[in-house]
Amino acid sequence: MSNAMSSLQTNDLDAFWMPFTANRSFKQAPRLFVEASGMYYTTADGRRVMDGTSGLWCVNAGHCRPEIVEAIRKQAGELDFAGTFQMGHPKAFECASRLVNIAPPGFDHVFFGNSGSEAVDSALKIALGYHRARGNGGKTRLIGRERGYHGSNVGGTAVGGIGANRKMFGPLLAGVDHLRHTHDHDRNAFSRGQPVHGADLADDLERLITLHDASTIAAVIVEPVACSVGVYVPPQGYLQRLAAICAKHDILLIFDEVITAFGRLGAPFAADYFGVTPDIITSAKGLTNGAVPMGAVFVRGEIYDAFMQGPESAIELFHGYTYSGHPLACAAAIATMDVLQAEGLLTRASELASYWEERVHSLVGLPHVLDIRNIGLIGAIEFEPIADAPGRRAHARFLEAFRRGILVRATGDVIALAPPLIISKDEIDHLIGTLGEVLQSVA
Ligand code: PLP
Repeated sequence: MSNAMSSLQTNDLDAFWMPFTANRSFKQAPRLFVEASGMYYTTADGRRVMDGTSGLWCVNAGHCRPEIVEAIRKQAGELDFAGTFQMGHPKAFECASRLVNIAPPGFDHVFFGNSGSEAVDSALKIALGYHRARGNGGKTRLIGRERGYHGSNVGGTAVGGIGANRKMFGPLLAGVDHLRHTHDHDRNAFSRGQPVHGADLADDLERLITLHDASTIAAVIVEPVACSVGVYVPPQGYLQRLAAICAKHDILLIFDEVITAFGRLGAPFAADYFGVTPDIITSAKGLTNGAVPMGAVFVRGEIYDAFMQGPESAIELFHGYTYSGHPLACAAAIATMDVLQAEGLLTRASELASYWEERVHSLVGLPHVLDIRNIGLIGAIEFEPIADAPGRRAHARFLEAFRRGILVRATGDVIALAPPLIISKDEIDHLIGTLGEVLQSVA
């Protein structure tokens, strides 16, 4: 029995209020991982489970990579904590420099937080501060998109577009509006990669500009690929059109790349993959391979420079976290970048993408499959919902997949897949083959 399990016997499961979880039913039949290595988790009862979701879209280089483990271990014994408010430590600067070297050209500066949610709220505040610093204090409105997910802090929930995440909490922020989502099942079902139809949906931003006036709008935030809510791949030309409209109206475009950054699509960032340059990029998750919490906001030089005004002794941005640039997180991020670069993982998904696409789309025609979507090393299978029980069909398949030894993610009536970027073709066959058996076997 693992150490983690033996200590659990003396506790019970009640105290931990689990996030985004049906606490009561989970605690009746818990699913617990106690170890992980490479492509696999080990459960508390000793079963190996192939990780089809990179943990929660974060373990891009595979689990417990020795180089990353060692870097964290070493850092913990050398410098456990040093703040970055009016103080510093070398790893934070080294980490930021490494990251801007990987980022798309022009993204010269990085602000650190501890999660995707903090990266998003930091990005929104930076966008507001940027306009104010340039004398455009009236630009305060933030535009998200229906079905978008930008984390669970107040700003991210407000610009997010998932009804279930919002309705329990009220409006949260004033001055927020949303673009229409880009999903068009009738015209685009079973698209391979980017759907053909829907670039014109970007013009919805013009509608909001007409309604509110550009002089009131600070920023638009979108996920280049909306992953958490069920994998919506942007229609061809959509992001280009959105960027053009933003530029025309001096509205900052924020790409939330918490999932897509660091190789998920086959390029270092989705901005590289789509050839579209936003003004701000948020990232987290794969930044440290999931091993230490960290988020990072990348900004272009013009944005940073807009804040660098007034006396040199003045603080330019009144924002930050105790753990911004935490030594352990920086050590983990540097080691992660070493691994990703040494093994070509920032672009490996591009080599696997067409094989992946074929295999994911081989599930067409299985019971209740309504749509299949893919891009890079991401896949999604959407099911016809059961009347009056939305989400139940995908959840049942998630449970059966776990029983058969693969971890997939259920979101709404979608099963999402995003395996570690180290996956082999044989492992892709195993993952999709097992999922196919699951889809055949569950009613
Ligand atoms: N933004 C996007 C696009 C995400 O997918 C997520 C998490 O899934 C977040 C933000 C929030 O990240 P975190 O859970 O690290 O706060």
